[in-house]
Amino acid sequence: MGRTLALMLNCLLAVYLVSATPSGARDLTVPLLEPLGAVIIDPGHGGRDPGAVVLQHQQQVMEKDINLSVAHKLKDLLDVHAPEIDVYLTREDDTYQSLPARVQMAAQVLPPEGTSKVYLSIHTNAAVVPEASGFEVWINRGDVTAYIAPTVEDAYLKRRIEEIDRTLHRELKDGTDALADAMIESLRDQVGEYMPSRGIRHQDFYVIRYSQMPSVLVEMGFMTNPSELEQLLDESFQMLIARGMLSALLEYRSR
Ligand SMILES: [Zn+2]
Repeated sequence: MGRTLALMLNCLLAVYLVSATPSGARDLTVPLLEPLGAVIIDPGHGGRDPGAVVLQHQQQVMEKDINLSVAHKLKDLLDVHAPEIDVYLTREDDTYQSLPARVQMAAQVLPPEGTSKVYLSIHTNAAVVPEASGFEVWINRGDVTAYIAPTVEDAYLKRRIEEIDRTLHRELKDGTDALADAMIESLRDQVGEYMPSRGIRHQDFYVIRYSQMPSVLVEMGFMTNPSELEQLLDESFQMLIARGMLSALLEYRSR
């Protein structure tokens, strides 16, 4: 390949990478499928965004508090059982973080050399019918189409960009599938006797769509189901969920 072409290719890739997400460049320096070295835990909602809100004994219960409590438990477990894994929280306390800010923060995490990172978003569910129950693991649908710079006329450049795009998406999908499988299995092991598994589901939630690393979003159970709400507020039950998440991450690490 001539030097000019190589230069052009780099420029085009730079344009492509910057335009690949709304939050900035795709970071090609961090491998996607290397051994796990960092986990970004994302407790959903926070601050002025309470998430789902339900009444229990005339008291408001807010989703953001349950999410944060489980996130801290998981961080503590990881610190003890896998101290070699760096753990980050997108929020440490009851503060508001926009979705792009969370994704941006995760993108900036640099795992130890030769390792990769994953994104785990933690939420609690709500439904119109009080009977709805169980936990779910959500992943991106993976149907993001390749972005081709409209000005690219050169067939070789076009092919190169498409190749890179395909490789990245395949690695992202493989990592995400492995993480989602481990997560649903481990949660089933830990809390399956208390609430049903609703399986792995697909949706383009912002944080798992744009996080640029293997990502899952866990809905831990339904706050709108009175008996499930009791469980979700119970510290020891929260610990069971956190343990399920820990096992999933450890299994993902040793896959
Ligand atoms: Zn939520």
